[in-house]
Amino acid sequence: MPAPGRAGGRRYVPVCTFRPGGPAPRWRSLRAVEPPAAADLRHPRAALAADCSRCRALCCTGPAFTRSADFPLSKPAGVPCPNLLPDSRCGVHDRLLEGGFRGCVGYDCFGAGQRLVATLAPGPTAFALLPVVRLLHELEWYLVEVLARPRAAAVHAAAEAALTTTRGLGARVGPKTDGAAAAALAAAVEAHRREVAPVLRAASAAARAAGGPGPDRSGADLAGADLRGADLRRAALRGAVLIGADLRRADLHGADLLGADTRGADLRGADLRDALFLTRTQLDAARGDRLTQLPTWADRPAHWPA
Ligand code: SF4
Repeated sequence: MPAPGRAGGRRYVPVCTFRPGGPAPRWRSLRAVEPPAAADLRHPRAALAADCSRCRALCCTGPAFTRSADFPLSKPAGVPCPNLLPDSRCGVHDRLLEGGFRGCVGYDCFGAGQRLVATLAPGPTAFALLPVVRLLHELEWYLVEVLARPRAAAVHAAAEAALTTTRGLGARVGPKTDGAAAAALAAAVEAHRREVAPVLRAASAAARAAGGPGPDRSGADLAGADLRGADLRRAALRGAVLIGADLRRADLHGADLLGADTRGADLRGADLRDALFLTRTQLDAARGDRLTQLPTWADRPAHWPA
């Protein structure tokens, strides 16, 4: 019997034999405790939450829009969306879906917008840096999750180092950052993204190993697929195309959803507790209901029925 403490990746705690009216209590045995799933990530990732009240609608002006299923209109980069009000609020915020602005509902800057506005005046450099800082914040989102998962302990040192680099790259943005510096930073961030990718892959494999990894559908085209009630526990779904997939009541507990495209996916009644690398963007882009089971850090998207 192992001593109280950790052994074989498990934590052992003493179990007391005390029963009311029974013999004197004594510690009799040790019970294995499964490592907890990821801790509530809301607080450690608080700085990665978009706060439009502290932004100047960079995402409504900086990127170009192309008329598509996500936007009912086209506009060039650097030109404000025609729905943007002078005070940087959206004039159609309460009817984005009805108006066909699905891309706006599913967009999350991970807090990059307000960070840039606090540093730089809105303009070409801030617009160019929005996707760069957004990517840094997204990488931080994933790396913080890795560090919160005890089962990925073998990868924690690499994740710590990657997180330090991620934050260091973000610190290069300052009031004097110009177009040339922004371009150099964009290249450095892209190189860093490629270095982080294997860390996230290793963390995913470690986290999904307990209980046996689920099916590997990485990068699969599952658009419109009928996956009602599917057992996708601990599945690898990174980069999978789940556009319009029917995932009602599917069990995605512990599934790796990194980069999965969930636009229009039906998640009503699905189990997403403990899903790996899930983002608010993926939830906002999908459909769900009050029966959809979410991780503790996630708020139910406002457009899902109560
Ligand atoms: S529709 Fe609203 S949220 Fe979308 S880009 Fe235009 S102003 Fe911004």
